[in-house]
Amino acid sequence: MRWTPGDRGDIEDMRGRSGFGGGAIPLGLGGFVVLLLLSWVSGTNLFSLLGTDTQQAPGTVGTTGQVATSPAEEKMVDLVDAVTKDAQDMWAEKLGARYERTRVVLFRDAIESACGLAQSATGPFYCPGDRKVYLDLGFFDELSKRLGAPGDFAQAYVITHELGHHVQNLLGLNERAAEDRRAGPNSASVALELQADCFAGVWGHAASERGRFQAGHVELDPGDAEEALRAAGAIGDDRLQRMTAGRVMPDRFTHGTSAQRVAAFSRGMDSGDPRACTSSATTTR
Ligand SMILES: [Zn+2]
Repeated sequence: MRWTPGDRGDIEDMRGRSGFGGGAIPLGLGGFVVLLLLSWVSGTNLFSLLGTDTQQAPGTVGTTGQVATSPAEEKMVDLVDAVTKDAQDMWAEKLGARYERTRVVLFRDAIESACGLAQSATGPFYCPGDRKVYLDLGFFDELSKRLGAPGDFAQAYVITHELGHHVQNLLGLNERAAEDRRAGPNSASVALELQADCFAGVWGHAASERGRFQAGHVELDPGDAEEALRAAGAIGDDRLQRMTAGRVMPDRFTHGTSAQRVAAFSRGMDSGDPRACTSSATTTR
């Protein structure tokens, strides 16, 4: 992927003002990662179910001061900003006045959101309450090392998937799912997640146009699409359940199988048309 660092206008950098305040997590790293993955796919903070004391009263979270960072991490921040800006420009073009710009809140460990305490353990997510995307950059390490989906376009897929939830929120596409709390392969939740994957693909389509980099936009390299497909295939419910629980439990599907996620991303990537992302379980406006 080729891109140029920008002004970070699409980022809310809260890395220096978040954290557990030095509190240790009483889990081995392996257990932590497994819970992180399960929490991400289930959308539930499983740390709280365990009763581990990572939850803190509002107000106690947050440290001030300088962020300890690295050149590699700063490059990642620039990447998140560039992709977010690029994808939002695309949505503004496609949706016109119906699109409202948002920002990606970068945090470490934990931060307050309108959807409650955001924790790294929950994975990246979109909060409809404050219309922002929350991301701990540490997730990209997990994506690369634990899940076997490295590369900048795999990261871009995660960001544009979350922005897909923002589009759903703006268009009211998530209302039906809010009434339907079931899980499983045919649930509204899975349909919404697959639609967000498809929306990520729609951006992939736009970003694969030649000459974009010269014009100051993000441009995909050959092979990038495969990278995103690998990421989509790596985070299907079936694969993650097999990794973490040793078996597949379809009645607990919340995001769709690897095959479904790959197919959904491809639908958007091939067509470049958000209308291709509508299924019988999601409404259109
Ligand atoms: Zn999602």
